[in-house]
Amino acid sequence: MRKAASQRVGKAASRRVSKPAVAAVERVATGKKTGKMRNPTSQERVAAILEILAKTYPGVVCALHHRSAWELTVATILSAQCTDVRVNLVTPALFKAFPTPKAFAAASLPELEELIRTTGFFRNKAKSIQGAARVVVEEFGGKVPQTMEEILTLPGVARKTGNVVLGSWFKIAVGVVVDTHVMRLSRRLELAGTTPGSTTPEKVERDLMKIIPQDRWIAFSHELIHHGRQICVARKPRCVDCTLERLCNSSDKTWSSH
Ligand code: SF4
Repeated sequence: MRKAASQRVGKAASRRVSKPAVAAVERVATGKKTGKMRNPTSQERVAAILEILAKTYPGVVCALHHRSAWELTVATILSAQCTDVRVNLVTPALFKAFPTPKAFAAASLPELEELIRTTGFFRNKAKSIQGAARVVVEEFGGKVPQTMEEILTLPGVARKTGNVVLGSWFKIAVGVVVDTHVMRLSRRLELAGTTPGSTTPEKVERDLMKIIPQDRWIAFSHELIHHGRQICVARKPRCVDCTLERLCNSSDKTWSSH
């Protein structure tokens, strides 16, 4: 029987993992047997996870289609409670109808709502997008600002959207994007959000920023989001295909080699 593409990719990616990463994997995997206290956020384990993710998802980028910081801001606002695939279906007509922040600022709200209706919560999203467009036009000369402090002044923009736009468009690493996938995988991999009181996106982001080197913040979020979509899905994660499996001790695992 032919193997699924993801299985072939997963196995090939595991073969490419370097010797130090494999050694770290082995030490973590055998930690219980040697009686040593397992530390899921040890530098060694985090480095091994980062290396495996980078090799499994080389050059991965944001899945939302965009041609400017403003388009990415709009697409990210639309992606709340909606799939990126759905957002990508909606944005071509939207950006054709309203090609600039100025055009969004002057748009008729019912027309804007109609164009984004299928993304859900369309009335709130339309208000946020138009509000954000007005602030961009009136306060920032028509350009999306490049600091977290400023970008958070746009209606409908919270830290997640700020991190997406600053990281993916401007390549400025001020934080880690924490969406539903990053939340779930951070917990499963015991990197963050595992203790009571540490499960909000803000706290998970803060904890991830402490253990992940800043020059990996942008790529790490993209890699984890892709892993969460393709392999470590919410229900029935595909652990048998997972390149991180030897490092994972999640109780959600559907298959284990150790
Ligand atoms: S082993 Fe399973 S639960 Fe752990 S990260 Fe991989 S897919 Fe997710």
